[in-house]
Amino acid sequence: MSDTKESHLFQAEIKQLLDLVVHSLYTDKEIFLRELISNASDAMEKLRHIEATEKIVHDPTLPLEIHLTTDEEAGTLTIADHGVGMTREELVSHLGTIAHSGTKAFLQAAKESGGTPASMIGQFGVGFYSAFMVADKVTVLTRSWRADGEELQWTSDGVSGYEIDDIPGQTRGVKLVLHLKEDQREYAKESRIKQLIETYSNFVGFPILLNGTRINEVEALWLKHKNEISVEQYQAFYQFAGKAFDEPAYRLHFSADAPLAINALVFAPTENPERMGFGKVEGGVALYCKKVMIDSEPKGLLPEWLRFMKGVVDSADLPLNISRETMQDSALVRKLNNVISKRIIRMFEKEAEADPEKYRGFYLKFDRFFKEGIATDYANRETLAKLLRFESSLTDPGALCGFTDYVARAKGEQKEIYYLVGASRESLESSPYLEAFKARGLEVIYFMDVVDEYVVDSLREFDGKKLVSIRHAGVEMDDHATEGEALDDAQTESLCGFLKEELGEKVVSVASGKRLVDSPVIALVPADAMSPQMRQMMKAMDENYKDEVKVELEINPRHPLVKKLATAKDANPELAKLVARQLFDNALIAAGLLEDARDTISRMNTLMESALGHPK
Ligand code: ADP
Ligand code: MG
Repeated sequence: MSDTKESHLFQAEIKQLLDLVVHSLYTDKEIFLRELISNASDAMEKLRHIEATEKIVHDPTLPLEIHLTTDEEAGTLTIADHGVGMTREELVSHLGTIAHSGTKAFLQAAKESGGTPASMIGQFGVGFYSAFMVADKVTVLTRSWRADGEELQWTSDGVSGYEIDDIPGQTRGVKLVLHLKEDQREYAKESRIKQLIETYSNFVGFPILLNGTRINEVEALWLKHKNEISVEQYQAFYQFAGKAFDEPAYRLHFSADAPLAINALVFAPTENPERMGFGKVEGGVALYCKKVMIDSEPKGLLPEWLRFMKGVVDSADLPLNISRETMQDSALVRKLNNVISKRIIRMFEKEAEADPEKYRGFYLKFDRFFKEGIATDYANRETLAKLLRFESSLTDPGALCGFTDYVARAKGEQKEIYYLVGASRESLESSPYLEAFKARGLEVIYFMDVVDEYVVDSLREFDGKKLVSIRHAGVEMDDHATEGEALDDAQTESLCGFLKEELGEKVVSVASGKRLVDSPVIALVPADAMSPQMRQMMKAMDENYKDEVKVELEINPRHPLVKKLATAKDANPELAKLVARQLFDNALIAAGLLEDARDTISRMNTLMESALGHPK
C-alpha cells in the first residue's frame, strides 16, 4: 500500500444505493454506458463554458472528444474525456456523498415501485453508480481543469468505500476504467459497444471514438432542419437531453430570427414524474448559445409551470458570460421566455385540436401544471385557459371538453360561463343548483379537482364571459315554463314573509325564484362565499375556523310541499314553523353549509311523530 493512499467510506445512503444497483437492477443494465458517456459529455460542456467565459484551463489544446477502449482479454471498458475533471474534494463530494438529493429520491422511488427500471437512474442525478451494475471494480483517473489540480486515482469495488491515491501522469479530464464482472464481459466487446453507442448516444455533441475509430456524427440536432431529422433521432435526443426514460408525448422544433435569434427543440414527456411521487422536478430545458451550453437548468428561461418540458433552447444573441445569478434578471432571458412559452402553448393548442383523445390522456397526467400556470403566469393566462379541460353537464362521464367548446355551444344570448364545484360527478348531478340550468339546456362545467376553485378564482373569465358559480345568488335567468299550478303572487309574498320571520337572521332574504324545478327550496350563497370543499379545507387547517354564510333562500312556488306550507302556516302554525326550519336545514345540507345537525335530527323526529299521528 503506497503511503499516499487514503481510504474513505461511502455515506450510508450511497451504500444503500449501490446495494440496490448491484443486487436489484437486473434489466436494462446496458444503460450504464449512456450514463457514463453523458457524464463525459457534461464534463466537456462545462469545460467549453469555462473557456468561453475566458478562464484559463489547464492544457487547453486537448481535444474535446470521448474515447472508448475495449479490452476483451483484460475484461475492461475504458471511457475517457478531456472535460473539467475532478479535484480531490470533488471526487469525495461527487462520487461518495449525497451531492444531489437524487440518491434519496431514487431509493424512495425504487422502494415504492418495487420494479424501478434501471434506465431511470440518470434522472435522479446518480447515473455514475450505474457503472457498478456491470463492473465489480471501477477506477477513475483524473486531473481537474484548475491550475492547482492534482493527478489522482479513485478506486472502488462499490461495496463499502473507495480509495483515493496520487498517480502521476494524468491528463485533464476523467478516464474511467470498468473492470467488468464475469457475466458482463459482453461490454468488453467492440461490436456490442458500437451497437450501444448507436442506440443511445449517436447525437452526443462531441466526437465519440471507439478503439480509435469515430462512431457518431456530431450534430446539434436543434440547429438542423426538421426534414433532416427522423422520429427516432428526435426520441433519442429527448432521452439524452432530458435524462428521460419515456417517449416524448409532444415536440416543438422551431427557429426564429426576430425579435431574437432562437433555435429551440423542446419536448413534453409522456410520464409526469411529479405524479409518480418524485417531488417537484427541476426545469429540463437547457440554455445554449451557438452550441455551447450556458446552463442546464436556467432560471427564468421558461415559466415555472413549464418545468416538465425538456430539451434545448439555443440563442445566438445571448452573451456567453451571462452568469447564472443574473440570468433571471436578464431582459434577454425574459424575452426568450416570452417567445418560447407562447410557442409551447400554441403547440399544445394545435396538438389538442388535431388529436383530442391523445391530448386527453396527456392532460389527465399534466393538468396540475396547466392549472398552476393559470394561477401564476399572468402573461399567458388567457391562451393557457384554452388548454384546460373538464367534464360538464353536456359531456359523457369521463369525456372532457374545453372552454372553447363550451363557448361554441352556448346560446347566443348567454353572457356567462356556468360552473359548479364538487367532489364527484354524481354529487354534482344530484345538486338542486343544477335543476334550472338543466331545464333550460344551459351547460354547466363540473370542477372536481380540489385546486379548481383557485384556478377559477384566478381566471375569472374566458373570452369576455364571466365564470359564474351556480351556487351563487344573482345569476340571471330567463322565465321558464314549468308544469303545475303555482301559488299566486299574494300567497307567495305572504309565505316568504312567514319564512323570513321564522328564519330571522339566518337568511338575507326569502323570495320566489326561477331556479327550481324539482326541489322545494334552495340556498344561494353570496358570490364571494367559499365552496363547501374550500370551507372543509379551511376547517381542516384550523379547528377554530368559523365563518357565517348568510344565504338567500329561494322557494319553488309550484312545489307541493311549498303549496301545502302556504296553507299550513295559517291552519297549523306550529307544525308550519317546524317544516319551515326543516326545509331550511335541508337546503343548507344540499349547499354543504349545515354546521350542526343536532337540532335538525330532533326536529325531524318531532315531524315524523306528527306525520304518523297520535296512537289510538
Ligand atoms: P449527474 O451526472 O446527474 O450529476 P452522476 O451520478 O452521473 O450524476 O455524476 C455525479 C457527479 O460526478 C457529476 O455531477 C460530476 O460532478 C461528477 N462526474 C461524473 N463523471 C464525470 C466526468 N467524466 N468528468 C467530471 N466529473 C464527472
Ligand atoms: Mg450523470
